[in-house]
Amino acid sequence: MLDVLGNLERTQTCGELRAADVGAPVVLMGWTAKKREHPAKSFVDLRDRYGLTQIYFGEDVSPESYAKVKNVRGEFVIAVKGTVVARSAETVNKKLPTGEIEVHATEILILNDAKTLPFQLEVAGSENLASEDTRLKYRYLDLRRAQLQQNLMMRGRVLTKMREFMNANDFLEIETPILLKSTPEGARDFVVPSRIQTGKFFALPQSPQILKQLSMIAGLDKYFQIARCFRDEDLRADRQPEFTQLDIEMSFANQEMVFRTMEGVMRSVFSLLETDSGKSVGDYFETPFPRMTYADAMRRYGSDKPDLRFEMELGDLSEDLRDTDFAPFVSALENKGEIKCIVAKNKADYSRKQLDEFQEFVKRYGAGALAWIKLGDDISSSLLKVLGQEKIEQLARTANAEKGDIVLIVAGKKSVVAASLGALRIEIAKRENLIAKNVYKPLWVTEFPMFEYNEDTGNYEAMHHPFTSLMDEDVPLFKRAIEDGETELLGKICARAYDIVVNGYEIGSGSIRIHQREIQNLIFKALGLTPEKAKERFGFFLEALEYGTPPHGGFAAGIERIVMILQGTDNIRDVVAFPKTASAQDLMMDSPGIVDDAQLKELGIKIVE
Ligand code: ASP
Repeated sequence: MLDVLGNLERTQTCGELRAADVGAPVVLMGWTAKKREHPAKSFVDLRDRYGLTQIYFGEDVSPESYAKVKNVRGEFVIAVKGTVVARSAETVNKKLPTGEIEVHATEILILNDAKTLPFQLEVAGSENLASEDTRLKYRYLDLRRAQLQQNLMMRGRVLTKMREFMNANDFLEIETPILLKSTPEGARDFVVPSRIQTGKFFALPQSPQILKQLSMIAGLDKYFQIARCFRDEDLRADRQPEFTQLDIEMSFANQEMVFRTMEGVMRSVFSLLETDSGKSVGDYFETPFPRMTYADAMRRYGSDKPDLRFEMELGDLSEDLRDTDFAPFVSALENKGEIKCIVAKNKADYSRKQLDEFQEFVKRYGAGALAWIKLGDDISSSLLKVLGQEKIEQLARTANAEKGDIVLIVAGKKSVVAASLGALRIEIAKRENLIAKNVYKPLWVTEFPMFEYNEDTGNYEAMHHPFTSLMDEDVPLFKRAIEDGETELLGKICARAYDIVVNGYEIGSGSIRIHQREIQNLIFKALGLTPEKAKERFGFFLEALEYGTPPHGGFAAGIERIVMILQGTDNIRDVVAFPKTASAQDLMMDSPGIVDDAQLKELGIKIVE
């Protein structure tokens, strides 16, 4: 028989009691995390969201409670009345905030029992956890683990900080609809069939982009929203089909104003780390953040989200190799490609096997091969036979390599060289522990290209989104590209678009927007949208642009990424309460699921096998 809670209330949580409370009568409630039985006494670790408290059940204190606790097993829900008692010096647990005390139970209520859990919650070292699929199926149990609860608590604190900052700076929280029409972030939409308008569909917002711009046209001046976004993309391990952004938009704003606002948000959010380490926020985030253009980031780090916690910049060997007749190099340079390298300090002793692994690694990014120069006691190189000693020495000098170092070289298309060396740079840094812990390096990456060529479709696409304005100095070039049909110029045009990057993660992006209809039309034209198509998709927005649109710009920051960085996890599912798997399923609810025929019929939908 289970006990009833009745009017009983907790006096404290399981994380609260300290030495100063000794002698106090208390009532605690929670889950039985662990039970240890000894002759004439038992100990229970009682757990709730706030912590663990050790409860002592003894024949000496209360024979009834001691007898009753024998029926309690793991994860039973109990209430305990008792007195706070100091632990003896040798039983104090320094690792536990409540470790100086225990509660001597005078009464126990068994509020609920629990089946044996499908997996163990408390295993030493998180690498011993049950498989992720099992844990996701029983997410509500996995969430009882302190680590996951801490992640969610941090997430809650981050959202609170953001709201406080936005409110203090006159941003208005506006909720925009979830049942929407296709929005322009370039992924696939999740669609929702309409019953009343049979045969028609809503789309879930990929972002509230158009609505926040309309809010500026409406004169709401400064908008923010903690916005859920939905993107039906092919999944990658670090993505979820739905995620949350701090979405902002401001009127009469230039890039500097957006930067100042976002730097304020980031400082305020990262101040949450202060409590743990005793460092001040400024130690993490000095403002203004450093800036780097997209072109520089790609050139120096092979990435538009460079991790600045370590150096190892890419070096360019193209000029030194213009005169060679080694076929792969000749072909790279003839096809407007390049030959670049990174230097791994003091790694001339990398083994053959190691270098073979790196070969395979760069091939995954499309590189044909990885060449190397080792500056050991003598110089050795995979290129020695084809280039000769003198050239090899010259290359090592250009790369700024010193004795003991290894130079790793890739030739090919610019995008392939950047991607493969950029990734290898990070791989080596991880492997060699070059990345300092508890260091946070924010960066603005600016002047993104406006358009990106899609080799599959042969079209130019908006790299950010089609409402992004161009760099003022590129407008004449853009007009030439459109009006004189010099389409390939589109690849050279830069946008007033920017990202915040922290430690190699893109935290968010934004841009100054187009506020003139004429330019917006030209952008759609550049993207291959006929006026009819543009009208069909975005007609309401194009019309709105004609009724007095203020200059405006904004940003959206990914909440999951931020919490991941703050909590030091690489797994996005660790910071989402009820996440989906990498194949976009919810294993707990078993969704997506089928709906019954009657429902389909109402919606006018037939499933085609
Ligand atoms: N809507 C954009 C995004 O989701 C952000 C922005 O431009 O403000 O990436």
